[in-house]
Amino acid sequence: MNTPDHADLLIRQALVYDGSGSDPAVQDVAVRQGRIVAVGTDLSHTAMHEIDASGLALMPGIIDSHTHFDAQITWDAHVRPSPAMGVTTAVIGNCGFTIAPCRPKDRELTMRNLTQVEGMSLEVLQQGIDWGFETFPEYLAMLKRKGCVINVAAYIGHSSVRTWVMVTKPINALPPKPKFKRWLTSCAMPWLQVPWGLPPAPVLRTTAKAACPCHRAWPATKK
Ligand SMILES: [Zn+2]
Repeated sequence: MNTPDHADLLIRQALVYDGSGSDPAVQDVAVRQGRIVAVGTDLSHTAMHEIDASGLALMPGIIDSHTHFDAQITWDAHVRPSPAMGVTTAVIGNCGFTIAPCRPKDRELTMRNLTQVEGMSLEVLQQGIDWGFETFPEYLAMLKRKGCVINVAAYIGHSSVRTWVMVTKPINALPPKPKFKRWLTSCAMPWLQVPWGLPPAPVLRTTAKAACPCHRAWPATKK
């Protein structure tokens, strides 16, 4: 059955917050093939599944625009507790601190960075992270294989890219731009596999504590 008035799911009498900032209103919402096809009062749609949402609120999924699920998502496909709070999309890697790309020799340093700048537990990271990747595309492929309850938009963490190539050099050393591009190519390309790109962090400094070198700068603009 695929008439205009048919829906796969009909949610009735929900207090709908539509995300526009306008006042909520009690409405019905019809969904067909994963898309909202109608919103209104007393919809005449028929549906395979119908939910009485009287007394409940309904809203679009929240996009959490700054998370550090990069590590947790490798052992917890539910990325708890975000889904329970209404989050349906999480952005990871946007302030530069991520776990991908990462060579085996840099894992300990990467985890220690996260303990300093994000307050994560080193013990939990050591026990939990699945290091079944080295490059960024391999990391994305692993996440896809494992599956995830919410949508994930991933930046390449430039701190991780710099650690990939600069870990033995001084923290504030700046790689020349052409080299940085080559390094990106080697560890993060092809770009087509990178949905969100490289996050900005135009500050030349380290936020980690002394024992924990933490590359945060853009490549040098001078040759
Ligand atoms: Zn952050």
